[in-house]
Amino acid sequence: MSDSAQHASPVSIGFDIGGTNLRASVVDRAGRVVDTLQEKSRRDAECMEHLIVEMTRSLQNRHQVGAVGVAVAGFLDPTCSIVQFAPHLPWRDAPLKSRLQEHLDVPVVLEHDANSAAYGEFRYGAAVGAKTWALCAIGTGIGATLMHNGEIFRGAYGIAPELGHLPVVPNGRPCACGKRGCLERYCSGTALAFGARELLESDPGTSSPLRDKPEFTGEDVMRAARAGDELALRAMGDFSDWLSIALSMVGDIFDPELIVVGGGVSANADLFLSAATQKAQKLVVGAGHRPQPLVKVAELGGDAGMIGVATLAASAAGLW
Ligand SMILES: [Zn+2]
Repeated sequence: MSDSAQHASPVSIGFDIGGTNLRASVVDRAGRVVDTLQEKSRRDAECMEHLIVEMTRSLQNRHQVGAVGVAVAGFLDPTCSIVQFAPHLPWRDAPLKSRLQEHLDVPVVLEHDANSAAYGEFRYGAAVGAKTWALCAIGTGIGATLMHNGEIFRGAYGIAPELGHLPVVPNGRPCACGKRGCLERYCSGTALAFGARELLESDPGTSSPLRDKPEFTGEDVMRAARAGDELALRAMGDFSDWLSIALSMVGDIFDPELIVVGGGVSANADLFLSAATQKAQKLVVGAGHRPQPLVKVAELGGDAGMIGVATLAASAAGLW
């Protein structure tokens, strides 16, 4: 460890574990990312744990690390110690926290990925100062978090809120969760591409640059919409309508003062968010006779989860 690292105030590491990449960010007390590492995710649980330990040790050589936070895209038990189920990760009912803690000499904290991102936005981003607010992270699916008085609301068993899997269309599009008609099959980046594909098939005469790209994504649809492509704009309109329903449901269930929209689609929020918000304001029960939540775009981008979980770990370790 260098002299400057020895004397600097301690930092915290936030891990983001994805199905493809394992990313680590070193976060300081101002919520700034001061260093990063990235490796390819491993398929085997033991290899993945070994890699997390190795990456931590390598960052400990460069920084005075006081805590480690790990954001997991999956179900954790209510004490955030065990990964019960994570569709794209190798752990099943695995005591990940104690396994990592065995090999690391600083406190380890696990947290759900959407909760981690929400905590990042709450401490340093779009939700600073908010008392009752919700994060809707919209990308491949929908990740949602509710925070009240600075605390993450988990429900009785650590699952809440599974906004993306509320059934909105009886017998609708099949979902990876095993149900049909879930909200995230209509309101996500994946759903945007799916909807555009349906429009292309139902309207074979319409020309669109999307026709020449068989494997297009939600991002491609947004790019085509930005360039004025009519079919992409129609798909965006459908997506925006579904988002307005999602926002109104969040309003009706949680009655928050603020809803922050994050995730992959939020980079293009100027294409849909204000229309969706206006529509949502008419869909909530008692519209016109109740205060409406402010709807904002997330501010920390793809680093939100790592910043949030690093800060949760720092706070648990008493660093800041
Ligand atoms: Zn589902």
